[in-house]
Amino acid sequence: MSSVVSAVPAASQIPEVNKDPVSCIPWPIPPPNPGLDIKYNKIFISNEWVDACDGEEIDDVNPATEKVITKVAYGKQADVDRAVAAASKAFQPSSKWRRMDASDRGVLINKLADLIDANKCYLACLESLDCGKPYTHSFFMDTGVSKILRYYAGWTDKMHGKTLPVDGDYLSYTLVQPVGVCGLILPWNVPLISLCMKIGPALCCGNTVVIKPNEQTPLSALYIASLAKEAGFPEGVFNVVPGGPEAGAAMASHSGINKISFTGSIAVGRKIEESSAKTNLKRLTLELSGNCPNIVFADADLDYAVENAHQAVFMNQGQLCTAGARTFVQEDIYDEFVAKSVARAARRIVADPFQLHSEQGPQISQKHLDSILGYVKSGIEEGAKLECGGSRHGSTGYYMQPTVFSNVTDTMRIAKEEIFGPVQCIFKFKTVEEVIQRANNTEYGLAAGIFTKDVSVALEMAKALESGTVWVNCYNAFAVQSPFGGLKMSGKGKEMGEESLREFSDVKTVTLKLPQIQNISIGTGSTVQYSTPKVSPN
Ligand code: NAD
Repeated sequence: MSSVVSAVPAASQIPEVNKDPVSCIPWPIPPPNPGLDIKYNKIFISNEWVDACDGEEIDDVNPATEKVITKVAYGKQADVDRAVAAASKAFQPSSKWRRMDASDRGVLINKLADLIDANKCYLACLESLDCGKPYTHSFFMDTGVSKILRYYAGWTDKMHGKTLPVDGDYLSYTLVQPVGVCGLILPWNVPLISLCMKIGPALCCGNTVVIKPNEQTPLSALYIASLAKEAGFPEGVFNVVPGGPEAGAAMASHSGINKISFTGSIAVGRKIEESSAKTNLKRLTLELSGNCPNIVFADADLDYAVENAHQAVFMNQGQLCTAGARTFVQEDIYDEFVAKSVARAARRIVADPFQLHSEQGPQISQKHLDSILGYVKSGIEEGAKLECGGSRHGSTGYYMQPTVFSNVTDTMRIAKEEIFGPVQCIFKFKTVEEVIQRANNTEYGLAAGIFTKDVSVALEMAKALESGTVWVNCYNAFAVQSPFGGLKMSGKGKEMGEESLREFSDVKTVTLKLPQIQNISIGTGSTVQYSTPKVSPN
């Protein structure tokens, strides 16, 4: 099997006996434990668990039951200060971490990956409990993050500078060095994946980190902190401050933090850019929102395209930055595509995340569910045709019915903004030129999909679409080797792949003036006369 992690396991890759008869998800998997013990809910600094300086805690809510899972320490400026001090100390030139062999950093990162694998079932349950993701998805997708860490563990001793052929009598070379203390700010929709996409390259390059998970989903980052301690990372290398906007803002303006890697909304990305500009001009990686086009041509395999377009939107409760929320369908197949998509959405199993057949859990919060319902209302008011869904599902838990709109036009709010929910908007198009123009007519530029059998159309489209990633005849097919990041307002910089190492390292130039050597003894005492080298004017 290729190393590409597809969002939907290709049916052909799973032997029939290993498939769940309803969801077609590989089967069996270890049974989940919804009643798992929550082991960590404090702030993690210098390998110790501490309360917030002011003692504040907030409720962490299970979106499926609306009940409190646990209270979690709520960090703010003073806690960020403590964590940054610990991370700065661990970054001193004489520290254990800085003096460690690069390959030993790789050993530690690999140990962390091993511990993630050993605790896969627990971590998957934790992520499902905290975010509402179906356990099967958490198990197969989210806990697959050990692969990310192993990729970066392999890079630790392969990052090196160059010797430069400069003019004059100089030796000039470059060193590739860590940036320093890195602030990693996480979203709630993919907390574990986002965490590992950041710590992999950050630790690989020898940085120290202060992590701030989203206030709604702090549990997996706290558990990974305990595994980092168990793996043997020295004190202060790995710190986690659960908290909200106050802690995030404190990190963005902190003069002790040299770099922020942020995943979240454009609005907060903008604030981080402003804070950084007003303080110490931090280096920034911003992974921001999307509203991605997924384009289906009339020659595509219809059933395959319908299923993939469905998963492209509804995966992770529709809460993926890469969600192919704008489904463009060529006019010849439009009506049939809509009918099949509606039938598929109607079959989607919305159920408790711990039921193994569940394809869709709850949205993250009541506030977010209300925002999605607001978009549905605006779609109806602006004249789109509500084909199915459109309402809350059930009365407990923040569940939403899988929703499909047809006859969506480009000026509607549901076409222009990121809904971030299980709502598929289907647009009609005629020509390649037209669909390129319409797909690009947005401030976002994260990802795009194309379904066609015509390779020349696919290649032409892949060049023309203004997005950081283009998938052809697949969707959400991620691989750690492939860089990921947005164009336009969907972000700056890249995560994953070799490119991410550049985000977490600096290149330093070292130049030495060479001594002027006139006589050099070679071998058995014979002396070779050299003329005096020309002295450089500088
Ligand atoms: P958000 O922007 O509301 O919050 C993200 C993080 O920023 C949280 O940890 C939050 O506490 C923190 N924060 C809030 N205010 C802050 C401030 N003033 N300064 C610093 N930090 C602050 O985003 P979210 O709701 O957690 O995530 C959903 C959004 O993330 C969606 O728009 C989605 O598209 C985007 N996202 C993008 C990617 C990507 O790779 N491009 C991946 C996942 C999610």
